[in-house]
Amino acid sequence: MLTIRNLSKTYPNGVRALSDVSLDIPNGMFGLLGPNGAGKSTLMRTIATLQDPDAGTIKLGDLDVLADKSATRRLLGYLPQEFGVYPKVSAEAMLEHFAILKGVTNRGERRELVAALLNQVNLYEVRKRRLGTFSGGMRQRFGVAQALIGAPRLVIVDEPTAGLDPEERQRFLNLLAEIGERVVVILSTHIVDDVSELCPRMAIIAEGRVRLAGEPRETIRALEGRVWRRTIDKVALSEYRARYTVLSTRLSGGATLIHVLADAQPESGFECIAPDLEDVYFGQLHQAAAARAA
Ligand code: ADP
Repeated sequence: MLTIRNLSKTYPNGVRALSDVSLDIPNGMFGLLGPNGAGKSTLMRTIATLQDPDAGTIKLGDLDVLADKSATRRLLGYLPQEFGVYPKVSAEAMLEHFAILKGVTNRGERRELVAALLNQVNLYEVRKRRLGTFSGGMRQRFGVAQALIGAPRLVIVDEPTAGLDPEERQRFLNLLAEIGERVVVILSTHIVDDVSELCPRMAIIAEGRVRLAGEPRETIRALEGRVWRRTIDKVALSEYRARYTVLSTRLSGGATLIHVLADAQPESGFECIAPDLEDVYFGQLHQAAAARAA
């Protein structure tokens, strides 16, 4: 269990990236969902002990993450948003190198570990290939193998599916789900489907604040009976936006399909639909924007 309490961070340029963030994150996959600029990377880097908050505490079980950084790092696997690799080095050689850095000094043990990791992320067949020839998905899976060295108890992956094609993305998410059975895995993303497909728990973060935390299913249930859909003429969209809480708009065969949040039918022509996590997410972003405007 990872326990985050009252975490705040303001950068020297005055941007308040985290405001009083508190979260309880149990074992398993946890989705941290938020738009660009919400503060996800700041939170991930703080948990990964790469930067300090202005206030707040983080505990992994009994371990004080911010006070005992070196102990935390031994239990941590981190796949950052951007990670550099040496393009001319093979996957196997690079993992060997990372394993040495992580303190796996026994050669036989290290070879075994590297082979097991390459198998786990499905890169064993291409282990001799240079990293520079890897596709985006292969690189991300390599990143996971690297993050798993040392059997971490806490795995952090920051925006991992951006830029992956659908097949690579699915493969990558399946891999995370397998890992998530044993440890805390935090998946930071702006892609709602990443969370709805595989995270039993999640939080929505916007403008540095936790807007909502819980089980996706529960948060969806809370919107039942309040999400309404209709097709409109595209030119009427701004009018609808002014009058209603428009959660989303989508082009559908030439017409514009909108979702509106309302306690009762907004007007005839709207039908009540089963809400999904995207409705929950856009509803929260809407509230955050409204709070800012107020
Ligand atoms: P996300 O990962 O959700 O996109 P970030 O944590 O990267 O969000 O950024 C949150 C806010 O903090 C943004 O407004 C961003 O511009 C700002 N920010 C991030 N890193 C820095 C930094 N090193 N210095 C100043 N501002 C930063």
